[in-house]
Amino acid sequence: MGSKATEWASWSDYRIDESPTVGLPAGGDLPCALFFPADYSVGMANLGYHYIYRTLREQGVSVERFFASPVSHRSVERDTLVERFQVILGGISYEGDAYVFAKWLEAGGISPSRVERERDVSGKNNNFIVGAGGAVTYINPFLLSGIADFIVLGDGVEATRYVVETMRSEDSRERVLPILAQHPSIYVPSIHKHGTHRLEVSRRDIDLDFGCGNWVTPRTAFGKTLLIELQRGCVRGCGFCTLPACFSPPRQRMLELVKRDIIRVASVCDFNQIGLVTPEAGDYKELDELLNFAENRGIGISFASLRVDGMTAHMVRALVRGGRHSVTVAPESGDDDLRSKCGKNFTNDHIIETLYMAKDEGVRSVKLYFMIGLPGEDDEHIMSISKLCDRVRNITGLRVTATISPFVPKPGTRWANEHFGGGDGANGEKILKSKYAVLSRSFGGSLRGIAQKASVKEACLEYALSWATPAMSEFLATEGMSAFSYRYLMERVDRNETMKEFRRLGLRSNLR
Ligand code: SF4
Repeated sequence: MGSKATEWASWSDYRIDESPTVGLPAGGDLPCALFFPADYSVGMANLGYHYIYRTLREQGVSVERFFASPVSHRSVERDTLVERFQVILGGISYEGDAYVFAKWLEAGGISPSRVERERDVSGKNNNFIVGAGGAVTYINPFLLSGIADFIVLGDGVEATRYVVETMRSEDSRERVLPILAQHPSIYVPSIHKHGTHRLEVSRRDIDLDFGCGNWVTPRTAFGKTLLIELQRGCVRGCGFCTLPACFSPPRQRMLELVKRDIIRVASVCDFNQIGLVTPEAGDYKELDELLNFAENRGIGISFASLRVDGMTAHMVRALVRGGRHSVTVAPESGDDDLRSKCGKNFTNDHIIETLYMAKDEGVRSVKLYFMIGLPGEDDEHIMSISKLCDRVRNITGLRVTATISPFVPKPGTRWANEHFGGGDGANGEKILKSKYAVLSRSFGGSLRGIAQKASVKEACLEYALSWATPAMSEFLATEGMSAFSYRYLMERVDRNETMKEFRRLGLRSNLR
């Protein structure tokens, strides 16, 4: 095992800062490491991770949390080394997290290759059962098939209970996996690799899940915030977005349950604000009533991002009351027509009008999110980004920062078949670099201080990983980390092959 994994470091300061929102059974059997492939501050702001932890603890499992940093291979609960756990579960939100998961396993002395662990019949590696779940499984579970022994597809609470029951009833991985494979939403690559099957991505009634975070802590990405879920899926249909395509149908939690959670948690611990976990808060039917409820109790609210055509003065006031003086909106393009093709039917004038209103309510700055490499985009469209930034700054007086990322076509989305890079598909990387050059010129030669761009290399990697086939995933896991070379992976993307695999497993008939 690498020295980094065993060197002494403790989570004690983090434990002291955590306030539990719910009483969970202590102790238990089936020692299980639940890993989130990012820093503690990010992982603790992920509600799905909270739900799976709570499910396991309520089932009497002795689960402990692991994060990629600041202490990578010891548990938050008791500083236990990962090698003491035989069941390892990873919550994978983004494509790049698969790489972090594999790297973390390897640094912890566990082979990241499912096939290698299977071959190691009497060795230490064969003792580990590695499972995975999380947002990526709604989009493309094959990415994890070379790493994990089983993959929970979609909403994971019910399937996780099934995993626990199975592991309790069987004592070896050889006996556990065939039983897991009988569950419709558990993909077992070693068993499902041949023939045809009927798997399905689980999408539950969200009122059946828990609805809020298990802890509040000042050490999360949003400060001492109570996470509350409002909706899953999205009623809109933006062509590039995985939310309507992969997380549908749209589901809203009943307001009574949301209020009940807030009242219950407020009676057991302090928090500074409520963080609404929802695609577009403005689409929640009873948002005004929820805002009034929070206001009457003096509680601030934070929204991840706001859609311009759903943003109201009421929402902005709630943000400002919670101490936030910045809003984040995603126009996607500076051009009205291209934005409308994306699925966002609001104009530049509408954006400016809405941000003017936000300024009147106490907002001081705005973050604008754009994409380049969109279908049908030309240089004029790219230059419209800097023009819109200038207009917003000059007319509203708000401080403006812009983040510009390449469009990445993903499985299942309306734009799944569009070219990566937005050109003729011949060389997405090269096209994106030239588009960034146009963008940079339009900002006066440098984006510094105004805009930041996501790297083309990362976008290439995201694109390749989002279309990974089982063979690509096996290759990644067996060849080690150097195989995650984005150029190497880009050359191997074959969307037709990926689609064939989806069909073979009966996954998502809506897929393009
Ligand atoms: S971009 Fe926003 S509004 Fe559009 S589908 Fe995705 S979550 Fe919904």
